[in-house]
Amino acid sequence: METKKVIIVGSGPAGYTAALYASRASLEPLVIEGMEPGGQLTTTTDVENFPGFPEGVMGPELMSKMKAQAERFGTQYLSTYVNDVDLSKRPFKVTCDNGNEYLAETLIISTGASAKYLGLPNEMELIGKGVSACATCDGFFYRDKVIHVVGGGDTAMEEATFLTKFASKVYVLHRRDTLRASKAMQERAFKNEKIEFLWNTEVEEILFDDTGVTGLRVKNNQTGEVSERATDGFFLAIGHKPNTDFLKGQIKVDDSGYIIPTNPPHPDTNIPGVFACGDVQDHYYRQAISAAGSGCMAAIRAERFLEDMNDS
Ligand code: NDP
Repeated sequence: METKKVIIVGSGPAGYTAALYASRASLEPLVIEGMEPGGQLTTTTDVENFPGFPEGVMGPELMSKMKAQAERFGTQYLSTYVNDVDLSKRPFKVTCDNGNEYLAETLIISTGASAKYLGLPNEMELIGKGVSACATCDGFFYRDKVIHVVGGGDTAMEEATFLTKFASKVYVLHRRDTLRASKAMQERAFKNEKIEFLWNTEVEEILFDDTGVTGLRVKNNQTGEVSERATDGFFLAIGHKPNTDFLKGQIKVDDSGYIIPTNPPHPDTNIPGVFACGDVQDHYYRQAISAAGSGCMAAIRAERFLEDMNDS
């Protein structure tokens, strides 16, 4: 089995930037990018805060450009998932979904984070039948329909605002009476006449029939009042969970599963030769630009680690 100098697991802005830097350093990285290359930004519309794009750029376009840029310098890509790693010794072993195994002198983990669900009965079964965690992917199907969005952060405001392009009405259900979202995003949502807020409201049950979602049973957590609301769509926007399950206790993570950087500001983990970048180790900034920056740091760190190994 060939041993790669660098394997990068994950393919959002962090993974692609790490690949760009590693390939320009002649480390011939292999990126195992999952089955949906590009990560969360491929489910976003306009990205207005990535420097260098005064008019904004579409998330998928930004990701495909980052990928192509790293490819130009020799990065190889594999469209499969990693479902197991052995970090107990170097070279590290990476086992993919298709059973193929790869060895790596250094490993960069940039698997990002995935949308959270509420854990309601039938929630997962109804994905694609009225339940969604991606307005960009599914909004189109809700022309002139009624949608309920749950959440009070930036994602909820962004998704609700985006959904008004299609829906006749968008209700935002939030479990408190103040939003977590940034002031700018709040203002945009408050000004939108198609959006209405339902405060102190929690979803108890998703109502459905053979055609899919028909409504929600909700509870006001202040008054205790329970009511049923008709809806065509139910969008989750309640945050994300880091994709670290495949590491299965082999690396230090915090209570929420985020990888703990052990030598800040460097993107080191508790395993020498394993580096982490992007949302998988960052629950605070979670921006494309900060993910890209940490990807650059991880690649430089991997390069220096390999140099030190060769010197010793
Ligand atoms: P957040 O963690 O910021 O917000 C999650 C929201 O969902 C909160 O309002 C929370 O309620 C609510 N929530 C969480 N769990 C539950 C639950 N079980 N039941 C009901 N409600 C729940 O996540 P976001 O995805 O909104 O944002 C993540 C990060 O990404 C933030 O830093 C944000 O700024 C950034 N972001 C930036 C964007 C941009 O700049 N264009 C767009 C989208 C995100 P409560 O407030 O009560 O905790």
